[in-house]
Amino acid sequence: MTTMLDTTTTELDATVAGPVLEPGDPGYAEEVASFSLTFAATPAVVVGATSAADVAAAVRFAARTGRRVAVQSTGHGLQSDLAGTVLVSTRRMTAVSVDPYAATACVQAGARWRQVIDAAAPYGLAPLNGSSSQVGVVGYTVGGGLGPMARRFGFAADHVRRLTLVTADGAIRDVTAKSDPDLFWAVRGGKSTFGIVTDLEFGLMPVARFYGGCVVFPAEATAAVLHAWREWAPTLSDDTTTSVASDTSIFPPARCFIDCFNASEVALLPPQTASAEMPRMM
Ligand SMILES: Cc1cc2nc3c(=O)[nH]c(=O)nc-3n(C[C@H](O)[C@H](O)[C@H](O)COP(=O)(O)OP(=O)(O)OC[C@H]3O[C@@H](n4cnc5c(N)ncnc54)[C@H](O)[C@@H]3O)c2cc1C
Repeated sequence: MTTMLDTTTTELDATVAGPVLEPGDPGYAEEVASFSLTFAATPAVVVGATSAADVAAAVRFAARTGRRVAVQSTGHGLQSDLAGTVLVSTRRMTAVSVDPYAATACVQAGARWRQVIDAAAPYGLAPLNGSSSQVGVVGYTVGGGLGPMARRFGFAADHVRRLTLVTADGAIRDVTAKSDPDLFWAVRGGKSTFGIVTDLEFGLMPVARFYGGCVVFPAEATAAVLHAWREWAPTLSDDTTTSVASDTSIFPPARCFIDCFNASEVALLPPQTASAEMPRMM
């Protein structure tokens, strides 16, 4: 039996350059697979976008067929309610470029932090990534992005210069603080509520050296660790960021983590004289 979704999916297939897959199609399971194994994503259709035009076609298709639209790159923040959605997968859109003179990076929606760290480090520059370099740049940044250098440089979202956004009407918009102040403000913290970001430009920080680490304690030590950490954290300089986490879900049995990151050797070096000594982050 041919359903309305089948017919319109065929139309969508003809419009987008990437794959359009429904449950049972070869490649569907791989396309919806994610870092998080907590939930299984079961969208009605997954569109493997290759460009902003593909994303726009998927959003218009969702509107035409009355379905919710969602977006996924790495699945590090997998949503539990993807059943029946039109899921836009951005994992093919991985281009990254760095301008060392402007100290900026441009990334497509599927890029991961590792790519930006590697491209920026030879110039003595670094992005404001989080604790895992495998997280997606865009998903992290549109959630605010609070990373290991947060006390020195602030939120990643506050360093965004420009973005391209596909909004619910299927339009592709170039958004800056000047062109659309409200939208620019809302996207940087609003995650995908206001549209799907297809590329992002943001500032890089002058960082020649970076020290980081994580100390893991058994769950029984949690109370003692928290008391000690509360005394110790206020004594640190503004160049040091520390966080504490108690994790029972990902790494059973329960453990307590303290992360400590120090960027105290931050140097304002012009790109041509920057040190290439920056160690690899996680
Ligand atoms: C191991 C680990 C370490 C982490 N460390 C930190 C940390 O140090 N600091 C911190 O702030 N966060 C951290 N996070 C949280 C992480 O930033 C969020 O889960 C983020 O949403 C992951 O983005 P993603 O694209 O990789 O994941 P995905 O699951 O692919 O996407 C998650 C969500 O991001 C949004 N999104 C993704 N792509 C787009 C797009 N193109 N346009 C609009 N919205 C989009 C959507 O709402 C989507 O549902 C960590 C998460 C993990 C699993």
